[in-house]
Amino acid sequence: MLPSEKALVPFVSVDHMMQLIHQIGLPQMLTGIAKAIEEDFLRWEQFDKTPRVAAHSAVGVIELMPTADETHYAFKYVNGHPKNTREGLQTVTAFGLLADMDTGYPLLLSEMTMLTALRTAAMSALAAKHLAPKGATVMAMIGNGAQSEFQCLAMQTLVGIDTVRLYDTDTQATAKCAANLAQSGLTVVPCKTPEEAMMGAQIITTCTADKKNATILTGNMVGEGVHINAIGGDCPGKTELAADILTRADVFVEYPEQTRIEGEIQQMAEDFPVTEFWQVLNGAAQGRRSEAQITLFDSVGFAIEDFSALRFVHDKARETGLNLPLDLLADPDDPRDLFGMLMRSPHSAAA
Ligand code: NAD
Repeated sequence: MLPSEKALVPFVSVDHMMQLIHQIGLPQMLTGIAKAIEEDFLRWEQFDKTPRVAAHSAVGVIELMPTADETHYAFKYVNGHPKNTREGLQTVTAFGLLADMDTGYPLLLSEMTMLTALRTAAMSALAAKHLAPKGATVMAMIGNGAQSEFQCLAMQTLVGIDTVRLYDTDTQATAKCAANLAQSGLTVVPCKTPEEAMMGAQIITTCTADKKNATILTGNMVGEGVHINAIGGDCPGKTELAADILTRADVFVEYPEQTRIEGEIQQMAEDFPVTEFWQVLNGAAQGRRSEAQITLFDSVGFAIEDFSALRFVHDKARETGLNLPLDLLADPDDPRDLFGMLMRSPHSAAA
């Protein structure tokens, strides 16, 4: 017996996602996801919001990130295991689901390792568009792992940077990132120290992975007027910036209830002042106010960004047919006869 069409769930595999990115174009994907995030941040109050649910171990974390509006529900499963790369595994992998609030039926199951890199980069660039100094052209990219090229390309596409200065404690990671960006049109400058990478940079992105309170940037390294895009501090006990940078900067966050647990501001008092970025988008709060101001986007990654990315992919997977219909839901002709469906199955001896 074939599953009914309405019960088949489109599945976007890693291969489909890569086809989608190549068909649509990476800059267009980043622009489309940034637009979807902006649209959803502008209707922030319509979403159910909760800090993500995390299961910690000594070496990493596994997290569930749910959110919903009136019509759709989404969750992402994501891990963060900085030691994984030493074993040939990714630090961050993910998959996620979009569902219909009316029926509760899933509408899309998707890989989200690639998609997380895209949505994190799109989110960084959206924040930088509003917070970085006007006319910023140079970015320091500290941490040249899996997320780094996506971060650089989103800043090129959405913010207009033309130069990236790369630094990683592992020179092989920098060489990989530089080679991957060779055809991008960006001027790529590999650097030997974080200080060298930050020379002349108006935007500083930190995107390192280490399960500890690291000090990738100290206060004396950060001059006036820069925008810091801090990506890698996203877990209790896992931060990248010295606390004195936070006191000198104006700090912008996604969802304070989650960022106070996971972000750079976990180092600060519970009432440390922050601005919610969605309020900058809707005009309720100010973004960059002056040339001398240090702005800091304390990024941890919030469920609404994944919701936006999934609804973007849902549309594109339908338009392009790039998905595999999955027999994921039991859907008997008589909805109350689940047992009868089992008995009538060709696998039953009685059938
Ligand atoms: P990755 O392991 O592929 O890359 C991390 C890189 O950081 C490695 O190349 C490593 O050598 C380098 N590094 C470690 N310590 C360093 C130091 N002190 N100075 C310079 N470089 C250093 O990881 P990834 O997938 O690129 O993710 C990077 C970080 O971003 C992780 O911490 C991850 O949890 C986080 N992340 C955040 C979000 C978000 O939304 N905020 C989304 C995805 C990933």
